[in-house]
Amino acid sequence: MPDLARILDGLDGAPYARLAQLRGRSPLGPGVELVVARVQPDPFAPPSRLELHVDPPTAALDPADAAHPDRARALASLLARTAAATGGPFRIDAGGQEVLTRSSAEVGPDGAVVLRFGYSFPGPRRRVDARAVRRDLLHRLPELARTCLRAPVLDPDALTRFLDTVEDAAHLRRALPGLGLVAFVADGAVLPRRSGVDDRPAERAVPFRSPESLRVTVELPRRGPVSGMGVPEGVTVVVGGGFHGKSTLLRALELGVYDHVPGDGRELVVTRPAAVAVRAEDGRAVTAVDVSTYVSGLPGGLDPSRFSTADASGSTSQAAAVAEAWEVGSPLLLIDEDTAATNLMVRDARMQRLVEKAAEPLNPLVDLVRPMHREHGVSTVLVVGASGDFLDVADRVLLLQDYVCSDVTGRAREVAALATGRRVEAGSPRPPRPRVPDPTSVRPAGDRVKLAARGTDTLRLGETDVDVRSVRQLTDAAQVLGVGRALLLAVDRGLLDGRRTLAELCPLLAAELAGPTGSWADPGGGDVAVPRMVDLVAVLSRTRGLRVL
Ligand code: ADP
Ligand code: MG
Repeated sequence: MPDLARILDGLDGAPYARLAQLRGRSPLGPGVELVVARVQPDPFAPPSRLELHVDPPTAALDPADAAHPDRARALASLLARTAAATGGPFRIDAGGQEVLTRSSAEVGPDGAVVLRFGYSFPGPRRRVDARAVRRDLLHRLPELARTCLRAPVLDPDALTRFLDTVEDAAHLRRALPGLGLVAFVADGAVLPRRSGVDDRPAERAVPFRSPESLRVTVELPRRGPVSGMGVPEGVTVVVGGGFHGKSTLLRALELGVYDHVPGDGRELVVTRPAAVAVRAEDGRAVTAVDVSTYVSGLPGGLDPSRFSTADASGSTSQAAAVAEAWEVGSPLLLIDEDTAATNLMVRDARMQRLVEKAAEPLNPLVDLVRPMHREHGVSTVLVVGASGDFLDVADRVLLLQDYVCSDVTGRAREVAALATGRRVEAGSPRPPRPRVPDPTSVRPAGDRVKLAARGTDTLRLGETDVDVRSVRQLTDAAQVLGVGRALLLAVDRGLLDGRRTLAELCPLLAAELAGPTGSWADPGGGDVAVPRMVDLVAVLSRTRGLRVL
């Protein structure tokens, strides 16, 4: 009888707190081990944390899949989904439509599997129920190892489809720079979602069809050639009437930084990995951001090259978001007029005549996006159905009409040739001054810092709540928690040391997080997913109390 069974027998009916004895490793059978990483102090506390380790040959995965980084990541995601779908008492973080690297499931290069999950030890009348615990840990868990973690028992077609889908998407995304593209939308892609709260594909959608002039065919390792719309580097403006699908296209590009599950509709909609959705967010905190390109003077003589506020306006919050993305090297900004500050976007000819430039501190993006690309390689995709002034600076104009996308660049040029009398009024954009965060303002003192995520709304970091609702590319709570965990790690491992700039920190921290999840996730903490560095910086930048040296 395994050790665990003996301990449990001795605990039957004992006070609940004595379950703490279960902490540690216990074999559950050949190649299967249970690790009890944290035991909850009482039945009503957050669930205990367990790990199930399954080594080959018990974990009978294809070694070629385990050795291929994209396929191993997909496999881990599929295993978590399969395990979660079996139901039962284990809380397995499987994720939604996006395939992220999560702590909940990991496939090592040798084919070893680790599942990490929550489990609430039953505790009727605050007593140990040894029978129930035995059933869960000694029968259900080995059963889970047998049924979920062996490739042969997974549906082979579903397995191949899942892994191939992710491998192809990752390949396609990596191909973008070589093709001079910032994004790609495959023919046949389904972009709209079922509803604002249901991320599955809409049922009666008009599938995407690329305009001929932008059609590109790319050879993928698994499915072969795929055709679709290549969005070239530069300034791309999306126009069209209200409700004709503009924001839906942009949202698909925002999430094209991630891979999607088969059947999602956006499997082959991919965007450069560090693309950032930028929006206005009045009320947010801004700390020492160089917004001097967008704001030339501030009331009260505030220095726009080191702009701080606890309560930004619409325009200054969006200017800060642009600068923060550029600061850490984002190659692509995605901007939707629905969530943009109009006065940062444009100032038209009439307003230029009425209000002299000297009295307007804002330098509108319409004058900046082109030189930001030409001189600094930062591309933009902008949805602007209302402001024709953007036609002057667009390299490409896409029209969405009845959800059909066409290239109207030629017609837009003709329209733009009709002079409006508008003058360019911004100077040359300058890359924002790099910021060096003060580590003591990032990581609260103490051994155990409280970390929690409330959906994708709030990150609790120590005693501070960070409002992350406007960091639109964070897709679930595990990723938000991953940001918090990574920030603590950056300080604890000396990467964020009071000398490095954020731009210098990002690649080092990303490399740290690229290792096995077990090397950085907190075994007793909640489920985390690996965040993008641009999102981590976006969250850090919104943290009230951040100090910049
Ligand atoms: P816009 O930004 O142009 O005003 P939206 O992108 O918000 O329009 O889309 C308006 C509505 O049309 C949304 O309900 C969206 O789900 C739906 N929609 C978008 N694209 C498609 C499509 N290809 N097929 C069917 N419905 C779509
Ligand atoms: Mg819209």
